[in-house]
Amino acid sequence: MDQLLVALDVDSADEAIKLSNQLRDVVGGFKIGSRLFTAEGPEVVRKMVKRGDKIFLDLKYHDIPSTVAGAVHVARNLGVWMLTVHASGGADMLRAAKEAAGEIEHGPRIIAVTVLTSLNNLSLSQLGITNSITEQVDYWTKLSRDAGADGVVVSPWEIERTRAKYGSNFTIITPGIRDQTNQILKDDQNRTRSATEAIKAGADYLVVGRPIVAASDPRAKAIQLCEQIAKASQG
Ligand code: C5P
Repeated sequence: MDQLLVALDVDSADEAIKLSNQLRDVVGGFKIGSRLFTAEGPEVVRKMVKRGDKIFLDLKYHDIPSTVAGAVHVARNLGVWMLTVHASGGADMLRAAKEAAGEIEHGPRIIAVTVLTSLNNLSLSQLGITNSITEQVDYWTKLSRDAGADGVVVSPWEIERTRAKYGSNFTIITPGIRDQTNQILKDDQNRTRSATEAIKAGADYLVVGRPIVAASDPRAKAIQLCEQIAKASQG
């Protein structure tokens, strides 16, 4: 199921490789974030790319434009498929990232992270942002798209409006996937929805970490999510 991406939020390449071996034929790709990357560095990316895995490098770059462009250039050489930058890095930084990535046929897709799914309206106001979550997501999505980003990360609750505004040629990725019948298991995510709801809302890719990685049988959990995605896609 291409639309399901697994967040390999683990501490070692051994664990990541073991999980990817269990899940490769079931899911569309793997997200490597700051935890695994800090533990293992680019070698784990190289290893997985070499094995044919699609790698979504989620290091959420946020720095001056030249530094981000340099990092994107290195990531491009690693062969990553998509990578994240923070929309709040600004238009110049986003443009520099896209320029360094090049066309999506040859380089990574640039995905801008809008408002983290762990934040709610209160945490946003504590950051000094007076917009509501929805307004801020809209604002950063427009900024990112105008600066050339290929897509955005938004919570499942902002998918419909983003899809309606930007159409099918803009990649929408959503984390915060949780079974709504079990709110206790939402971890630190605040704006969650089920896989079925996220797909029906129009997401291109769902990023799922703990519900799969921490499951007693990660493969069975991934298959269950794939079945939900397939059903939701049919209408
Ligand atoms: O374990 P869980 O399913 O909550 O994992 C979600 C993944 O998506 C984590 O790796 C997290 O870093 C990432 N993410 C997120 N919210 C964003 C951007 C990325 O949860 N806005």
